[in-house]
Amino acid sequence: MKKIISIFLFLAIFYGCSGQDQNAIDNKVKLQNNDILLMSTLFQQKAAEMRAISYQAYNLATLRLDNELKMAGLSKTLAVVVDIDETVLDNSPFEAKSILENSNYPKFWSEWCDLAKAKAIHGAVEFLSYAESKGVEVFYITNRKEKFLKATIKNLKKEGFPFADKEHLLMRTTTSSKTERRQSVEKTHKIVLLVGDNLGDFLEIFDKKNINRRFEITDSLKNEFGKRFIILPNSMYGTWVSSILNYQNNLTPTQKLEIYHKNLESFE
Ligand SMILES: [Mg+2]
Repeated sequence: MKKIISIFLFLAIFYGCSGQDQNAIDNKVKLQNNDILLMSTLFQQKAAEMRAISYQAYNLATLRLDNELKMAGLSKTLAVVVDIDETVLDNSPFEAKSILENSNYPKFWSEWCDLAKAKAIHGAVEFLSYAESKGVEVFYITNRKEKFLKATIKNLKKEGFPFADKEHLLMRTTTSSKTERRQSVEKTHKIVLLVGDNLGDFLEIFDKKNINRRFEITDSLKNEFGKRFIILPNSMYGTWVSSILNYQNNLTPTQKLEIYHKNLESFE
């Protein structure tokens, strides 16, 4: 038995120290890197808890809207602003594809958008249709690029969303910041509610901030969540991931994995 263990150890050390070039290591880590998406994607797709959270968010949005309707003056038409990806449309099949094909964004993103097959997030159609029935307009402020406008309208219409037209879809043109687009809505409308999965969907102040600063700002705005800001979970991607990576582009999968590990909070 001892002999077998010794041989095994020898082989493990031998193969561990030789043979694998950097590419092979990078590919292995790349695979692990995409496996990081496995549980978060399964949570979005298979957890009834995720569905329950979505219902909860939109039920709360309905209550808040009713409250705003009671208090609203007549000066401006009321508006609800929603993000699209992971707020009203579920792109988890794109993430699943990335895992299975071991690919990274933007590979397959165009194909996915053009298919116009994303399903509605649970509760979103009902809430936005309710808003429409109360004379509230809906604006979709998304960081999907302009070239996806037609396909996105098609997708939203297919799922039954109101105001799915080019007047109500504000795509990303020059900047990913949503401030200017929110301001353009505010020229003619009073925004009573914002719904998103990323803190930048609510305020520009969150953009490009480090992890601790994002926490501080969130704490300072704690009374706005569940009030004017309705947030949905997105465990698959978002600024929360970029902030962990310190907004560094072009990191290798190996470097990313290393940073993710370093950010874990454990105990001794
Ligand atoms: Mg989003």
